[in-house]
Amino acid sequence: MAQIGRSIVKMDVDKLINLLNKSLADEWLAYYQYWIGAKVVKGPMKDAVIAELELHATEELTHAQLLVTRIIQLGGTPVLSPDEWTKITNCGYAAPEDPFVSVILDQNIKGEQCAIQVYSKLLDITREADPVTYDLVIQILKDEVEHEEDLAALKEDFNLMIERRK
Ligand code: FE
Ligand code: FE
Ligand code: MG
Repeated sequence: MAQIGRSIVKMDVDKLINLLNKSLADEWLAYYQYWIGAKVVKGPMKDAVIAELELHATEELTHAQLLVTRIIQLGGTPVLSPDEWTKITNCGYAAPEDPFVSVILDQNIKGEQCAIQVYSKLLDITREADPVTYDLVIQILKDEVEHEEDLAALKEDFNLMIERRK
């Protein structure tokens, strides 16, 4: 029997699943960017930065979990191979080739700013069409806004410290 939960969605469900899969790819890439960044980061305030990067990594994984659950509820197939991630991502991946704290913070701030824009668009798309996805995107967007601010605050402390040493 066709699922009522799918039939109440007032938009092209395949298009919605496609958008959710793109965000799922973003979340895995964000997870790894934070996780590997926490391993290689070097420089002043390293311990505080590592703690924040590790926490954000786990929160990105939670976002991936929320998205995959919704994709399956909608009858979709979640992206099945890591090969796909870099092909369908909205926000890309920034390898921490330069491990200096301020460079890693900047890379991740940029990633969060992209995520905020993507989820904000997804809110506009689902607001009237799919309250279940809308609610899930709000949960994720709250975290991304917090992530941006956490990293910006660390970057501000880093800049203050550099200023004082001049
Ligand atoms: Fe996320
Ligand atoms: Fe985030
Ligand atoms: Mg945080």
